[in-house]
Amino acid sequence: MRKALLNIDYTVDFVNGALPCGEPGEAIEEEISKITETFISEGDYVVFAIDLHTKDDPHHPETKLFPPHNIEGTSGRDLFGKLKEVYEKNRDRDHVYWMDKTRYSAFAGTDLEIKLRERGITDLHLVGVCTDICVLHTAVDAYNKGFNIFVHEKAVASFNETGHKWALEHIKGCLNGSII
Ligand code: ZN
Repeated sequence: MRKALLNIDYTVDFVNGALPCGEPGEAIEEEISKITETFISEGDYVVFAIDLHTKDDPHHPETKLFPPHNIEGTSGRDLFGKLKEVYEKNRDRDHVYWMDKTRYSAFAGTDLEIKLRERGITDLHLVGVCTDICVLHTAVDAYNKGFNIFVHEKAVASFNETGHKWALEHIKGCLNGSII
């Protein structure tokens, strides 16, 4: 069993910027940073799967749903707080991978699956925001592709407490994920 960490969308815009989780997002800063440091220091593959948009893109479905967020070249797209420092310190290591994504799922339109398969990775650990949007959609795709799913409960968050709890239950009950 080889494992990888998928670090999803923990950016300024999603924590306290343009499309914020707010307090629940700020509250996971220590834990998400600590888990990420541990995975990096143990040599496990760590992916930063980070939303990327261009402003007012008429072809993107989120343009109708959400205010502009994670726009290319803006500071809203920086990692939030301590996680940014962890990334900056380790960004040149070859098991640390920054991956732009444009949809909720980290698998949609990216080379994530091929990167994981070529490394023999079977177990995916998920952290980040929002539990019931990008984390959930990534987990659904991971399930369909046959990966084992582990969600770190203290390192995921949502602006929607009901959605957060529902998503964790769904990942556990329907995707056979472990909530750890
Ligand atoms: Zn988005």
